[in-house]
Amino acid sequence: MNAKTILVPTDFSPMAEHALAEASSLAAEHGGSLVILHVEKTPRTHNGESHADLAEYVDELRKALAAVLPTEPDVSYRHKLLFGDPAEGILQTADEVDADLIVMGTHGRTGLNRLMMGSVAEVVVRRADCPVLTVKECSAIDTLVAL
Ligand code: ATP
Ligand code: MN
Repeated sequence: MNAKTILVPTDFSPMAEHALAEASSLAAEHGGSLVILHVEKTPRTHNGESHADLAEYVDELRKALAAVLPTEPDVSYRHKLLFGDPAEGILQTADEVDADLIVMGTHGRTGLNRLMMGSVAEVVVRRADCPVLTVKECSAIDTLVAL
């Protein structure tokens, strides 16, 4: 599989962190590079707030995103921060950067595990034009192996 440009969307959850680790090893193996993306839902509560508050909030987001890094050395990467609907932002970015692969968690921050996939993952899997690798948390498997 061509995996030169790998899009890794993150909601800053442990699941997304796990997906980033998988994406990093894929990139290391295939000489690919990562686009690490966060899409912030446009916050209604910020509409009435001052410009300074909003700037500070965006700055915090940028810092948080800058701290999300490939887990393998020598993997090239760039960050992207968008505002709007997460699934739409991920699909739009995949087109824009001409992603060969999207690597994301099956769940995120909300993590309703009774469902097979979160809503963002489901929309992306359904509508993306490139392959999508969904990464599950493997703690349950680890436990079995330990037994
Ligand atoms: P839901 O949001 O439907 O309640 P969930 O939070 O458990 O469920 P998703 O939101 O679908 O599950 O998250 C699955 C994956 O999608 C995450 O691991 C992450 O890779 C990606 N993702 C989710 N939200 C965002 C976001 N706002 N920006 C970038 N990536 C995201
Ligand atoms: Mn979510």
